[in-house]
Amino acid sequence: MIQTLIEQLEAEHILPFEDLIRLLTEADDDDRAFLFQRARAVTDRYYGHDIYTRGLIEFTNYCKNDCLYCGIRRSNRHVERYRLSEDDILACCREGRKLGFSTFVLQGGEDPFYTRERMCHIVSAIREHFPECAITLSIGEKSYDDYLAYYKAGANRYLLRHETADELHYAKLHPPELSLKNRMRCLYDLKAIGYQTGTGFMVGSPGQTPQTLAKDLLFIHKLQPEMIGIGPFIAHHDTPFKDCANGTLDMTVFLIAVLRLIRPNALIPATTALGTIHPDGRKMGVLAGANVVMPNLSPLNVRHQYTLYDNKIYMDAEAAESRGRLKEEMASIGYRITDARGDMKPL
Ligand code: SAM
Repeated sequence: MIQTLIEQLEAEHILPFEDLIRLLTEADDDDRAFLFQRARAVTDRYYGHDIYTRGLIEFTNYCKNDCLYCGIRRSNRHVERYRLSEDDILACCREGRKLGFSTFVLQGGEDPFYTRERMCHIVSAIREHFPECAITLSIGEKSYDDYLAYYKAGANRYLLRHETADELHYAKLHPPELSLKNRMRCLYDLKAIGYQTGTGFMVGSPGQTPQTLAKDLLFIHKLQPEMIGIGPFIAHHDTPFKDCANGTLDMTVFLIAVLRLIRPNALIPATTALGTIHPDGRKMGVLAGANVVMPNLSPLNVRHQYTLYDNKIYMDAEAAESRGRLKEEMASIGYRITDARGDMKPL
């Protein structure tokens, strides 16, 4: 019966709310194996065995927000804060380019130091030096005009996880000044401007239920994002959620496969958080339908300060070493890391 639902999901790319709940709560091992096989077949149809890479540059850990789950939240006084200069960021891009990266992801806390002008200056400089590369921003909630200015300066993609599509759950994870309504406004603005837009959520975040997850799936189907990033919630010892259970490998790979059937040609990463909860996490993510990995290009001397959650992997590995290890990891399951820019393929 669940396998019939999986076939229906593959054909129609969505299920009614109650059927999503059944899929999330009743699938047994055989159903899971069937789902992974379908999801991987769909991925192969668009992307074959190619895995795209994105060079992640964590350029600031200052944040004005106080999200309850996040290690770099404003009220964590134990974080040594840092910012990278434009020159530092360009140096990361140069190193990344040499290694074969064709996409740079600038990610950071919501740091008011990087005004619209400063951000546009940085984006224009990267665009000028690396005209053939994709520039992805992941710097949180901004105004329509900010997003438009970054886009005009040369940014192509934007990652902004919605975190949860349920209002009450959103309020449990975030301080009162943040709202799901504004998060969604941002996502629709990004799409309207023309960004390749990514959204997603943490798996197993405190208070998540099959009902909130079903809402996430329905929202993603409605938004039709080009990229979908999910990874397990992992507790950070200096946050209010320090004693909460982590998200699981099983649930994360299951949801990667479900999302692949919802958005057949999306770019879906096997995230660092997935690699952190299990040594084979990223391989299992790929075998469930992921087709992107995002190794770290941040300078080694700041890596330990960008700690969103505990025990993050590859903290001390040079960019070249991480890329090399990922190549081996992927080759061991028959997949290859490619240097291509990796835009979304048409349906
Ligand atoms: N400030 C930007 C934003 O809000 O989109 C980008 C940076 S934010 C740190 C990137 C993502 O990290 C968040 O969207 C969240 O899902 C994830 N994250 C934060 N804390 C986490 C945790 N404890 N476990 C797993 N993922 C976490």
